[in-house]
Amino acid sequence: MPDRIADIWGRRTPFARDAPWPARIDQKLAEGLTDGDVERWVASACTLCSNGCALDIAVKDGRMVGVRGRGSDAVNRGRLGPKGLFGTWQGMQGKDRLTVPLVRDESGELVESDWETAMMRIVARSQQLLRSAGPGSHAFYTSGQLFLEEYYALAIIGKAGIGTPHMDGNTRLCTATAASAMKESFGSDGQPGCYEDIDSCDAIALYGHNVAETQTVLWARILDRLAGPERPKLICVDPRETEVARLADVHLAIHPGTNLALMNGLVRELFVHDWVDHAYAEAHTVGIQELRATVEPWDPESVARVCGVAPGDVRRAAEIIGTSERLLSTVLQGFYQATHATAASCQVNNLHLLRGMLGRPGCGVLQMNGQPTAQNARETGADGDLPGFRNFANADHVAELAALWGVSADKIPHSGPPTHAMQIFGEIELGEIGFL
Ligand code: SF4
Repeated sequence: MPDRIADIWGRRTPFARDAPWPARIDQKLAEGLTDGDVERWVASACTLCSNGCALDIAVKDGRMVGVRGRGSDAVNRGRLGPKGLFGTWQGMQGKDRLTVPLVRDESGELVESDWETAMMRIVARSQQLLRSAGPGSHAFYTSGQLFLEEYYALAIIGKAGIGTPHMDGNTRLCTATAASAMKESFGSDGQPGCYEDIDSCDAIALYGHNVAETQTVLWARILDRLAGPERPKLICVDPRETEVARLADVHLAIHPGTNLALMNGLVRELFVHDWVDHAYAEAHTVGIQELRATVEPWDPESVARVCGVAPGDVRRAAEIIGTSERLLSTVLQGFYQATHATAASCQVNNLHLLRGMLGRPGCGVLQMNGQPTAQNARETGADGDLPGFRNFANADHVAELAALWGVSADKIPHSGPPTHAMQIFGEIELGEIGFL
């Protein structure tokens, strides 16, 4: 096997537009073992970045002894990046990992315990608080590494069982912009795109998304399109000379803090050149004239002055966006953890709405997440939202959920926005929340 620490993205498997991404099975077994030594393979997933690659875990003598990518899976078609190949199973066998629950003894020291004791302590504390202080005494703050079904079970426990409004997910302090930009533009927090759009697009625009380092297998998919026939055009918006920037047709190395100025300029160019799908915009958007008035001051020269890029590069990027048949855009922390984060990310959505580039193969926006199932936490209601993109302010949505769960609508917290993570921590400090 090649040195996959040095060769991060692995061997190229070029493919053409609309062809299936060829499978390539990446595998790593413990030193000295061969396939014949593996007793069984257990289906799982890599949880080390937000890509969510499917992998099978090799088991021998009851222990993990390696991994391989699953060739049939739509996300990775068998590939694994260096973290999936080495981190998932070797890291989990570190000597510092817990093997039994720990509970605090009377002196406050964490001591080894057993599951029954640990779980019953949780139950006793929970019951005591529910009796004395009610559901608001409980809060949940959840990571982006559970599985979808686990999140949904958690949502039911929190919302239909306990009935607390204090639930939030890791998105809050990571990629909150993804959720707010999608709600602003589309009215719900569901991704209007998928990884297969890479296979079918003819232009890819990456906004503040260094995919080559953050999701190495997703970049391998893009590299395979770039290496194949009908190479898609590539736009990179990133102040740094990243691997993505190195291969881009247009690299807009804008000054930090100027995302929105650039996006206003790109949207303006669509209007100026009439690269607008009027029928689509008429059917699916509101506020076009207000948008046009907002971006009007942002001609390429003004953008160039503020962002520190050449006006010609702004025009070239806009032309790719304006004339491609199928455009895929991705957005990540360079836009999210920045000034005007939601507004700039909404302008990416607006480019697609103006061009009618949503809802068909090769056309989509991926407002990316930072952890593998952060999106699932939100879709299932394990954060502040209600499951299935339901709206707490819509009485029909709450009633439908109550009927599905067999509880009264009053049980499900919906009188106002859910408690966000920072507020939860504040209420813990004040003693309002006694169970996290
Ligand atoms: S790309 Fe992400 S999910 Fe896939 S193997 Fe690498 S770290 Fe794991």
